[in-house]
Amino acid sequence: MSDHSQRIAREEVEEQILREALRIFNAHLEANQLRRTPERFAILEEIYRNTEHFDAEGLYIHMKNNNYRVSRATVYNTLELLVNCDLVRKHQFGKNQAQYERSYGYKQHDHLICLDCGSVIEFCDPRIQQIKDMMGDILKFKIHHHSLTLYGECNGACQKTAQVLK
Ligand SMILES: [Zn+2]
Ligand SMILES: [Zn+2]
Repeated sequence: MSDHSQRIAREEVEEQILREALRIFNAHLEANQLRRTPERFAILEEIYRNTEHFDAEGLYIHMKNNNYRVSRATVYNTLELLVNCDLVRKHQFGKNQAQYERSYGYKQHDHLICLDCGSVIEFCDPRIQQIKDMMGDILKFKIHHHSLTLYGECNGACQKTAQVLK
């Protein structure tokens, strides 16, 4: 496949994920007799158009800067609803404000937090799945999920990592 058709294919997958996330959210609101307002769907869409980690206040400011008419309260309570239906994951990294990220259709990963500049770096290591399977077997548990966050100082490595990822 050419670069161009690869990009188109990726965009189509992203669109499908977004449509499915909207469908799940719609069903969740309906099932819980919550109001299905355009603001709530706009917030979900905005989150799914980005892959970054964000905090609630940052999302609110971002929405306002993009001329969405949403209140701070709407952003905060919509985020909670999205966490409740597993469309958004909430993280508490150290003492910082809670950070959020989209979760539906997104790869499994863990985080490395930089204590120097606050960067959040994602990594994926298949051995973690092996640990989950093995511990579940040994202890006769059905493991649901896990949380693993590494903390460290980068001494400038964050900038280099950002370049590599681009
Ligand atoms: Zn750093
Ligand atoms: Zn992440």
